[in-house]
Amino acid sequence: MHELSIVASIVESVTASLAAYPGARVLEVRLRVGQLASVVEDSLQFCFEIATAETPLEGARLIVNTIPVVVHCDACNADLPLPSLQSFHCPSCGAPASDVRQGRELEIESIEIDDAPSAASPDESRVPQSLSP
Ligand SMILES: [Zn+2]
Repeated sequence: MHELSIVASIVESVTASLAAYPGARVLEVRLRVGQLASVVEDSLQFCFEIATAETPLEGARLIVNTIPVVVHCDACNADLPLPSLQSFHCPSCGAPASDVRQGRELEIESIEIDDAPSAASPDESRVPQSLSP
């Protein structure tokens, strides 16, 4: 799945940047995803939950900021937001617009971490609870 490999590389990159904060937990990951990045947010969320299990990102929120498509129109000499992905034409003069200036982003915008040492060690809190009454 496309989204799963994206999420896997996000987890990898976030884990790498956590090396400077031993024991830190990730609370939130914000992504910038362009409308042309061909990413389905629901799939991202689903894959994020799977891919972050047993990692410092487990339980973190995934926030997806969708970035609108902006095209440059030579005739208008302007960068304009594309009103619909169905038609790549300048919203102002109608000229064909193929010069995409924004909308292909797929990047981590920010990461929020909790690096305060907690009372219980993360390993202990992960011990499965007994199901017996
Ligand atoms: Zn135009």
